[in-house]
Amino acid sequence: MRSAVRSWLKLPKDTSIAFLHARAVDGGLGLPLLEHEIPLMKRARTARMAMSPDPVVRAMLETPAARKVLRARQTSLNGTVVATRQGLRSLLAQQLYSSVDGRGLAPAPQVPAQHQWVTAGDMTLNGHAYVGAIKIRGNLVATALRSARGRPHTDIRCDCCGRPEALSHILQSCPRTHASRIARHDKIVDLVISSAEKIGYSICREPAIPTPAGIRKPDLILVRDCDLTILDVTIVADNADLEQSHQDKQVYYDVPAIREWAQRRYEPRHIAFEALAMSWRGLLASRSAAALRRLGLSARFISLASAMALECGTWIVNHFRRSTFTIRSR
Ligand SMILES: [Zn+2]
Repeated sequence: MRSAVRSWLKLPKDTSIAFLHARAVDGGLGLPLLEHEIPLMKRARTARMAMSPDPVVRAMLETPAARKVLRARQTSLNGTVVATRQGLRSLLAQQLYSSVDGRGLAPAPQVPAQHQWVTAGDMTLNGHAYVGAIKIRGNLVATALRSARGRPHTDIRCDCCGRPEALSHILQSCPRTHASRIARHDKIVDLVISSAEKIGYSICREPAIPTPAGIRKPDLILVRDCDLTILDVTIVADNADLEQSHQDKQVYYDVPAIREWAQRRYEPRHIAFEALAMSWRGLLASRSAAALRRLGLSARFISLASAMALECGTWIVNHFRRSTFTIRSR
């Protein structure tokens, strides 16, 4: 099954077992790990017999066959013994977060809704886009740095700027992909606008607000029923502290000049400062997810935002590969 899934999703051969089998809400693909789960299910069923009110059923546990089941039905994954399915799940998650490709997925469980698209089979993304999004989520794109693993003398330099060509470099910092990074950001802003308009918000995009520190331009002002929210979208590195990224945006915009400006213009009862802070892996800060839900946006919106950020990630990679723009002297 593993090799079939790897080939359908065009995943590299060294895709970790943990990425394939960790639950989608933990950042994996959620494929059942049958060779371990079936023995654990048998064990749980046998153990439940001990709770039976029927003395005959309980007595069956004393038979050599039942004892053997209880003894043998533990399983071991890479040397760690697990005795329950829950234990197996947390072990897979731990292994995922300690792998080179999976490290950036550690914040995944904070926002369960953002993973719906992975397993829902609802065609949030078409087949091609789904495959691309999974590869970005798992850091499984063949970059110079990734391809050089185990080959110490390979050139890993980005042919645009000379820094190591990692996926995080292509998606977050290479000068070549600057324009498509802005397009990714704008695409998420567009998604917020269309979803918020559907639930009755009136919206102002990129207002230029004068402050003593200069003009500030938050992405969006959303107004509904005398409540006003100033919201900024940011897509950050996968080792950034997402909650901090959310808070930094709040602090940046929550200044007296902006509050006064918004008060004069909209006369709201209440003003909130929020962010949609997400890593390039499509993982949201839990504070951002909570803010989006407070605005009335659905769990489906959260899943869609995650999937869309990843789909845009594949566009950025394609842009990087097609372009010949360089700042290196050759
Ligand atoms: Zn570069």
